[in-house]
Amino acid sequence: MTQRTIEKYGMFDPADRVLVAVSGGKDSLALWDVLLRLGYQAEGMYISLGIDEDLGYSDSSLQMCRQFVSGQHPGATLHVVDVEGEYGQSISTLARTKQRGRGKPCSVCGLVKRHIMNRFAREGDFAAIATGHNLDDEVAVLMQNTLHWQAGYLARQAPVLEEREGLARKVKPFVRIYEREAAAYALVRGIEYIYDECPYAKGSTTNFYKELLNQLELRSPGAKQQFYLHFLQARDKGAVSFAVEEAAELHPCRQCGQPTTAGDLCAFCRLWE
Ligand code: SF4
Ligand code: ZN
Repeated sequence: MTQRTIEKYGMFDPADRVLVAVSGGKDSLALWDVLLRLGYQAEGMYISLGIDEDLGYSDSSLQMCRQFVSGQHPGATLHVVDVEGEYGQSISTLARTKQRGRGKPCSVCGLVKRHIMNRFAREGDFAAIATGHNLDDEVAVLMQNTLHWQAGYLARQAPVLEEREGLARKVKPFVRIYEREAAAYALVRGIEYIYDECPYAKGSTTNFYKELLNQLELRSPGAKQQFYLHFLQARDKGAVSFAVEEAAELHPCRQCGQPTTAGDLCAFCRLWE
């Protein structure tokens, strides 16, 4: 199914180098495993965020990635970027400072992850960044975006996001794989992964939508897949369209050179300033 998805959406070829974003969780490790077994040139990339340093969440997830390489694919390349080592502060500390100790660090975390992944993929000349988003993830996001009629997000939600002015190509080869299938695959392949979610994911809106969709699926098996695939088909055929404002023009950030729509500094560099 993953191979069919890669071909159907023209994600990448065996000649391409692909950077797989790994978190130590089942989806990303299962994806990396599948790509390597299919013969793709897939390198892993782990960003050590420094989340909940006291509980060692980030340390154990990195440990799982290293264990995966040594146990399953000893020749595979795992790149590790340590946010604190490279930039001077962990995500938890940075978010506490920026948000004065209030709220979850997710927006800071997302911004930092996107920036580092993009920089790494561009500098390393990778054809695409592959993430382990599965069908359940995509359907939950689709439901959230539909309930709020987020036209911009609905227009862009897709298995492939093409490269654009300094922004690396992004692909999701697991969009047709259910979360439970990824978990079953990891189990069968003997892949150990971190079971606990990031502590900040607990009680998130996405998880709430996942629960609702699981109830729907129980009543009406296949509903998740239909909702997602029919949405993609309807949009591609032009049966639904979303008025999206012209994408704002991108220009390079004065400090890091990555594309930004903001002033002369990108959001990432402003964050550290
Ligand atoms: Fe980052 Fe955790 Fe929030 Fe995900 S849930 S964005 S890993 S802080
Ligand atoms: Zn910048």
